[in-house]
Amino acid sequence: MIIPKSKEEIELMRESALVVSKTLGMLAKEVKPGVTTLYLDKLAEDFIRSEGAIPGFLGLYDFPNTLCMSPNEQVVHGFPTTEPLREGDIISIDCGAIKNEFYGDHAYTFAVGEIDPETEKLLQVTKESLYVGIKEFRIGNRIGDVGYAIQKYTENHGYGVVRELVGHGLGRKMHEDPEMPNYGKRGRGKKFIEGMVVAIEPMINMGTHKIRQHSDGWTITTLDKKPSAHFEHNVAIVDGKPELLSTFKYIYKALGIESDEEEPFRKEPLVV
Ligand code: MG
Ligand code: MG
Repeated sequence: MIIPKSKEEIELMRESALVVSKTLGMLAKEVKPGVTTLYLDKLAEDFIRSEGAIPGFLGLYDFPNTLCMSPNEQVVHGFPTTEPLREGDIISIDCGAIKNEFYGDHAYTFAVGEIDPETEKLLQVTKESLYVGIKEFRIGNRIGDVGYAIQKYTENHGYGVVRELVGHGLGRKMHEDPEMPNYGKRGRGKKFIEGMVVAIEPMINMGTHKIRQHSDGWTITTLDKKPSAHFEHNVAIVDGKPELLSTFKYIYKALGIESDEEEPFRKEPLVV
C-alpha cells in the first residue's frame, strides 16, 4: 500500500534528505586515491550524528555500516573495507539517515582521480537517466512510465539495466511501497498519487544487465565484471509534479561543478 505524505511530512522528509545530501557533499572532498572506504564510513557516521540524525543503514536488515560502498564492478550493497581506493576507480556511495523519524536515502557514483572516458560516459548517462525518470514521476503517469524512460535512455547507449534491484517508496520505513523498477512498459503498473515519496535509483551496467550475488549475502557485482553506476534521488509528488527533496549541489560545490540539472524539479532554486 502506498502511504502518501502530507505537506508537513514532506517538509520533514526534505530535512532527512538534506542530511544525506550534505553527507555526500562532505565525502566528495574525501574521495581520493589511497583513502579507504572504511575511513569514509566513519566520517559519514560522525557527520550524520553531528547533524542530529541517525545513520539509516546501520543495523538495518543487520547491515554493519553507515554507507554501502560499491567500487567498480560492484553494483550496490558493498561493505566498506580497509582496501584503499586507487586512481581510476569509481565508487558508488549509498547513504541513509533518519531524522524526525523519516528516512533519507540517496546515492552518487564518484570518480577516484582521473577515470577512463568510457567509464566517465557511464556515470554521465546513468545520472542523466535519473532525471529522465524523475520527469515521468507525475500525476497522470504510472510506475511503468518511469522505468520505461530510464530503460530506453540507457539501453540506447548499449548499457544494461539491473533487473533484480529497484527503487522504492520512502517514509517512516526505508523501503515502502511501491517498488520502482528501472525498466518497464509505458502505461503499466500503479498510478502515481499526490504526496507519494520515492527513491528513484537507476543501477546501470556498462555491459550485461546480469549480476552475481556474493556468498556474503550482500555484495552484488556485474556478471561480466564491467563497471556499474548508481545515482539516487528522493522525490515527492507535490501539486501533481515531481519535486526533489535531495540534492547533489553539496557534491558539486565540493568538486567545483556547475550544473542546473535539478532546477526543473524545484519551485525555487536551492542555494547551498
Ligand atoms: Mg540508497
Ligand atoms: Mg534506495
